[in-house]
Amino acid sequence: MKLHHRFADALPSLTSACQPAAPAAPAWAYFNQDLAQTLGLEQSEVLLAILSGQQPAPDSQPVACAYSGHQFGQFNPSLGDGRAHLLGELALGDEWLDVALKGSGRTPYSRGGDGKGTLAAMLREAIISEHLHALSVPSTRSLAVIQTGETVARLGPEPGAVLTRVAASHLRVGSFEYLAARGQTEDLRRLFEFTCQRHYPGVDEPLALLAQVCQRQAELIAQWMSLGFIHGVMNTDNMTLSGESIDFGPCAFMDHYDPSQVFSSIDRQGRYRYEQQPGIGQWNLTRLAESLLPLMPGSIEDNAEQARGVLNEYVEQYQAAFDRRMADKLGVDHADLRNQWLELLARHSVDWTWGHAMLPDRSEWLALFAGAADAEDWYRRWQALQPDLDRVRANNPWTIARNHRVEAALTAATQGDLEPTLALIRTLQSPFQRAQDWADFGPGDAAFYQSFKTYCGT
Ligand code: AMP
Ligand code: MG
Repeated sequence: MKLHHRFADALPSLTSACQPAAPAAPAWAYFNQDLAQTLGLEQSEVLLAILSGQQPAPDSQPVACAYSGHQFGQFNPSLGDGRAHLLGELALGDEWLDVALKGSGRTPYSRGGDGKGTLAAMLREAIISEHLHALSVPSTRSLAVIQTGETVARLGPEPGAVLTRVAASHLRVGSFEYLAARGQTEDLRRLFEFTCQRHYPGVDEPLALLAQVCQRQAELIAQWMSLGFIHGVMNTDNMTLSGESIDFGPCAFMDHYDPSQVFSSIDRQGRYRYEQQPGIGQWNLTRLAESLLPLMPGSIEDNAEQARGVLNEYVEQYQAAFDRRMADKLGVDHADLRNQWLELLARHSVDWTWGHAMLPDRSEWLALFAGAADAEDWYRRWQALQPDLDRVRANNPWTIARNHRVEAALTAATQGDLEPTLALIRTLQSPFQRAQDWADFGPGDAAFYQSFKTYCGT
């Protein structure tokens, strides 16, 4: 594994050299053979030692990255990788990929935290990231989860683990905010140039970068919305410049359609609830725009005006992307019918995933609505438009990462049985297939949801 340190070399003010903690007794919990093959890596003792933090990779200069962030709307100028180490960048054709460890011990940005990861939290990221990837949603990937053999103190003692994350980059809106807040304009320019080279070749002015990032985030968030995915903690430090999903610790897929759905235990105001995600995307992109202003020539008023124009286009881009995704799911492009569909789902509290996946089978679908007359009426109008059923089947998953399935698998893993997690990851690799055990991937029961909450960084 030949690692480069282009980011650390270009932006020393955004990185601090530091070594991952060496674990006592590393052991594989999960290894992503497909991704390893893509990267040209083999599962070996040497790789185990490197990815656990026990042994440095050849040529490795691990760093923790600094960034700021608006957390639930409040600006925190000094965040950064409190429990992660960027080992370096891997060249894959003409692409660059970051290889980073998460849960790998304290860094200068740990702010009193222990820098560790629990087995459950690291496996959760592995399950969700690989599932998003299988759903064609841009996401950071998980190459491996390694148990450290150590105990991490949370609500109780828990097994510790380190995740290997592979990402297009770890450039965040918060990375720009960090340098802008400190008035480090030359470094900010270098970050801008680095970002363009890495993700947007040919882009050479800040407004153009903003427009590109808006487009990618519009597409990404429309995909989340079309899948009922709730990120849970859309702080500006958890939004990438690449357009990949990142840091979805308290994320969850909703079962019955409820636009006000929120799962995260700390999101008491529902700031990051399902229906807010597109708007929060724009709010975060506005923070990016503000951070880019110092790089724009000309008057601040003119630049702000132009940036506002770009941010307004995001609203249209998002709407167009969501309309397209919904037309894919329904097999027909019809705005009124689509809006009535969303109203129908909400009125009957019907499961988002099954409500779409069962569309091709009238009686199965109608049973979801207990044969309600308004549902029958809608179905008749939908059929009259001659929807493309192949399109419906290709765009509606059967098996999503149901919360009760994820929680049950992680509980077993914490108790020493990894098999349910590994089986779940395998099933979630083929979400569009109606697997033999498809019925076990239905919505959770009411008792489960009464107490179901998700947590950040556990
Ligand atoms: P998140 O919202 O999960 O992306 O994390 C928010 C911030 O908290 C980041 O700066 C993390 O590095 C930091 N953080 C989370 N867990 C820990 C931990 N156990 N020790 C140190 N820092 C942490
Ligand atoms: Mg984060």
